[in-house]
Amino acid sequence: MDPFLPLIVTSPSGAGKTTLVRRLLAAQPGLVVSVSYTTRGPRDGERDGRDYHFVTEAVFSDMLARGLFAEHATVHGSRYGTSLARVEEARRTHRGMVFVIDYQGAAQVKARIPGALGVFVLPPSLAELEARLRRRGTEREEAVARRLANAREELLHAARFDYLVVNDALDDASAALQAVCEVAFAARGGPPAGALAARLAGACAVARTAALPARLLAGESVRGVPAVVP
Ligand code: ADP
Ligand code: 5GP
Repeated sequence: MDPFLPLIVTSPSGAGKTTLVRRLLAAQPGLVVSVSYTTRGPRDGERDGRDYHFVTEAVFSDMLARGLFAEHATVHGSRYGTSLARVEEARRTHRGMVFVIDYQGAAQVKARIPGALGVFVLPPSLAELEARLRRRGTEREEAVARRLANAREELLHAARFDYLVVNDALDDASAALQAVCEVAFAARGGPPAGALAARLAGACAVARTAALPARLLAGESVRGVPAVVP
């Protein structure tokens, strides 16, 4: 197996993927994050080149026409894309790359980059998702509403991912994402992840996996399920 780990982390806006990925990167220096290109404007505190490359529609379209994106999608009315060159560079310099992208981009990465592993982060409930988006305070009211409406559509795609991570207690979800990563490194020739591998290598519980997003969409809470569902 290719030793390089392309690790996709997807979730509805506000479920906590940025927070979880920040912790993962701090714990795994062999990983690098793909800084995406976007036509969305920067939020307070976001820095060009660190959080995103903020570009105009014209620049984005030009990059797309020149085939410079490994994947791209329109999400919540803005365009986002991952630079192919950055993936190739990461392959030379790191053990893996984290793609913090939406489900459309995730499908493209899966199809295009062999060995890519997909993790979908679920909120414990839609009510908590809304509370987190509002607490973050980065979006105007109409953007919050749009993100919440889109969350329902996004959850319909969750069951296609390799792992679901329920982000209820942050420490548990963070440990779960790190376990997924360590097991994936072990499978690619790193040191064996031992007990972690045994915990995650169980038969893929597809029915259970599919049931979680459906329960969220029905307005239920999925608090109390194990933080990671293979
Ligand atoms: P995303 O990147 O998926 O849009 P963020 O990482 O920005 O989500 O998280 C959304 C908000 O929720 C942030 O204010 C973050 O601090 C908070 N948050 C993340 N994880 C948790 C958690 N497990 N419990 C409570 N709040 C959380
Ligand atoms: P935000 O505007 O909140 O930073 O991100 C909005 C959505 O765009 C999130 O679902 C995020 O994962 C997605 N996104 C960010 N960068 C990319 C990218 O490069 N490609 C794709 N397909 N989606 C992205």
